Amino acid sequence: MEVSWIALEKTRIGEFRVMENDRWLKVKEFVKENVGESAHANWIQPIELKEIKNSVAKFLVPTRFIGTWVHRNYGDYILQGFKAQNVKIDRLEFVTLNLENKNNSKNQKNIKSDTYKENLEEKDLILPSSPLDERFTFDRFVVGKPNELAHAAAKRVSDGGKVTFNPLFLYGGVGLGKTHLMHSIAWSIKQKNNKARVLYLSAEQFMYRFVQALRFKDMHAFKKLFRSVDVLMVDDVQFIAGKDSTQDEFFHTFNALCEQGKQIVISADRAPGEIDGLEERIKSRLAWGLVVDVHPTDYELRLGILQAKAEIQMELNKDVKIGEGILEYLAHRISSNVRVLEGALTRLFAFASLVGKEISIDLVQECLSDILRTSERKVTIEEIIRKVSDHYNLRMSDLVSARRARSVARPRQIAMFLSKNLTSKSLPEIGRRFGGRDHTTVIHAIRKIEELKMTDVQIADEVEILRRTLEA
Ligand code: ADP
Ligand code: MG
Repeated sequence: MEVSWIALEKTRIGEFRVMENDRWLKVKEFVKENVGESAHANWIQPIELKEIKNSVAKFLVPTRFIGTWVHRNYGDYILQGFKAQNVKIDRLEFVTLNLENKNNSKNQKNIKSDTYKENLEEKDLILPSSPLDERFTFDRFVVGKPNELAHAAAKRVSDGGKVTFNPLFLYGGVGLGKTHLMHSIAWSIKQKNNKARVLYLSAEQFMYRFVQALRFKDMHAFKKLFRSVDVLMVDDVQFIAGKDSTQDEFFHTFNALCEQGKQIVISADRAPGEIDGLEERIKSRLAWGLVVDVHPTDYELRLGILQAKAEIQMELNKDVKIGEGILEYLAHRISSNVRVLEGALTRLFAFASLVGKEISIDLVQECLSDILRTSERKVTIEEIIRKVSDHYNLRMSDLVSARRARSVARPRQIAMFLSKNLTSKSLPEIGRRFGGRDHTTVIHAIRKIEELKMTDVQIADEVEILRRTLEA
């Protein structure tokens, strides 16, 4: 079961909401039947029942305009809908958050029939937090050398108290536990203080909210909301690189929260300085806090994680037995990405449970042949340069030369792309191996090829063929 953060927030605001929710859903159904899908989606869906008291139904509306419109055009249906539910309602009240432009208020003056209450307290703002994974808690996080610093820093943040470093910036490759740690922080803070306003969201979500706010001219609400939190966590912040106005807003939110002494936690797939397309002032601001990198897992950590996950799996599949030395074998053979490790184990247990066998080396090899194959061979940058230059009839020296002709530049970009994808070398290291190029050139090359793979079938094919021969 996944617990949605939003659900938690809502219940906190008032018990009534859980109780009334069902009825309100039914009322909405009723209105939908009468006004049609699209009117329902545009007008009824965005409003929220806040409470029913003394036969007055109070709604929270995103903007005053929506409230007025709904009241005038659909008010009767809403009343009828309640009646059909045997709920006596005499009046509808629409509450906004008093966040709209002052200039707008003139146009609204002539609308007197609606009741508005403004200045809802900040604590009543509903946080647009992304759902938190129930399994991502500190007790399920296995600590080892590669992640001990990140874990300790995350723990410190979750202890609350005085903010000593701001932001906490976690970075590292895919599947190394960054999101897990952020969710753990959120759960832990929530557990200690139910009232704490923790907002966790991906940078993508942040941007989506921001764009929505721009579109619906709700910037004020957006700002107020984001500035009302105690802890802000933004995951995968590299996503906003190159997206200028989002970055700008992020920066302001960031500063405002820092000034108020609120904790911020950020994650990214690279260090602040390496995120191409991120403004300098943001990079340096990010680096003010504590920057911790989550290293790729080592053998011991992988084994620890496998043991912990196998225990959970054994709880779920009581009939499955796991042979001796299997976990060690997996820890040796599977790459550093914990997600892959986890996936392998899940598959093994499912398979073993299905065929009713003990998990043996044979079964592992049969069941995980694809995963084992990809992590079997260690491709080197030299091999990539050799294969790519062969393929395009170039000399190996061309690929590392300064020549910029398309006939050389494109294969070079492909080789850089493959180096990033097939080896564990860092961007600066790849740059160095390709004639001492800057890591930003490598990033550019990777982006370019990613883009071309989507638009140019021939390039996509060539890259795929090269990848396969290299991995074979
Ligand atoms: P990232 O955000 O760094 O890409 P995630 O936090 O999504 O990675 O982790 C990927 C998966 O691996 C998740 O299911 C997570 O629970 C698991 N995982 C990663 N690191 C650990 C760890 N140290 N202990 C237990 N599980 C882990
Ligand atoms: Mg993540």
